[in-house]
Amino acid sequence: MNAFDYIRPATIADAIAAASAPGAAYLAGGTNLLDLMKGRIAQPTRLVDICRLPGLDRIDTLPDGGVRIGALVRNADLAHDRDFARDFPAIAEALLSGASAQLRNAATVGGNLLQQTRCAYFYDVASACNKRTPGTGCDARDGDNRLHAVLGWSEHCIATHPSDFCVPLAALDAVVEIEGRNGRREVALETLHRLPGATPEQDSALAPGDLIVAVRLPATARTFAAHERYLKVRERTSYAFAVVSAAAALTIADGKITAARLALGGVAAKPWRAREAEAALAGATPSRTAYERAAQAALVGATPSGDNAFKIELAQRIIVRALSLAAAGTPDRVPALPASPFSSATGAVHVL
Ligand code: SF4
Repeated sequence: MNAFDYIRPATIADAIAAASAPGAAYLAGGTNLLDLMKGRIAQPTRLVDICRLPGLDRIDTLPDGGVRIGALVRNADLAHDRDFARDFPAIAEALLSGASAQLRNAATVGGNLLQQTRCAYFYDVASACNKRTPGTGCDARDGDNRLHAVLGWSEHCIATHPSDFCVPLAALDAVVEIEGRNGRREVALETLHRLPGATPEQDSALAPGDLIVAVRLPATARTFAAHERYLKVRERTSYAFAVVSAAAALTIADGKITAARLALGGVAAKPWRAREAEAALAGATPSRTAYERAAQAALVGATPSGDNAFKIELAQRIIVRALSLAAAGTPDRVPALPASPFSSATGAVHVL
């Protein structure tokens, strides 16, 4: 048992001051951090419990039509919020495809963004891992790496980011609000997570003490509600991280795609926005040919990092399927087995 201080600040300013000390970590839902502590992968000397900070558990519609989601909103509460699910159905679908019901009840929006990779070598303290212990090497390079990255990886780390939630957020231009020692700033969700390069231990744009206080979606994200889906392929239908996933969102008018948003999960150390694919889709007639062209564009820079060449073709197939489903129209009910390519739209979880 490692000894640590436990602090429960009353204000955001106090929380930032407490968490700026070396060795400190924020505690919210704890669904990842406590596992990391039990496995001695993370050994914080101070836990700053932010669960009772006021005002961070709200979902607010903004005057400009956007929505602001407090960092302490629970994943389940957001997914089951009727107004939110109606306006951002792919995000609700992604949330419901993540983890288990119990974990979704505890996990928070902010924590979901910052969860650690699920690379097995990262969780095994007997393994070499540059991300856990910089400079020690990467046992995944010659190990069991079939689920590792095919985009944006480096010789130093080939891990993927495990979040489902972040994938449609990246596609829909979400913005992350951060409070830090120098005040408030915002970053695009697309730039919150870093690719590994030579410093895989630095996996986000956050500095010590930085606290995510909210995630914001712009009003334009609502315009895709009629044609958006999140599709996740995993090794078993319940409670597994994505092998590959895709969030696809379209606007369609007069038989043409007028705008497209596409992001991938399970392929890189960050949710992967596929802008080349989006450009290929803009102005196209919704068709399998257009989707296949987009899928090729999305993976044009992909390279296996090990025994995972299959993920490149799988990702292309998932893109085609996700775009086909999105073009067919958002179902009025999220499937009972959300985001499974094998599920039908029967057995609703919630009604739009
Ligand atoms: Fe560590 Fe990254 Fe290598 Fe996994 S892939 S062992 S997280 S350095």
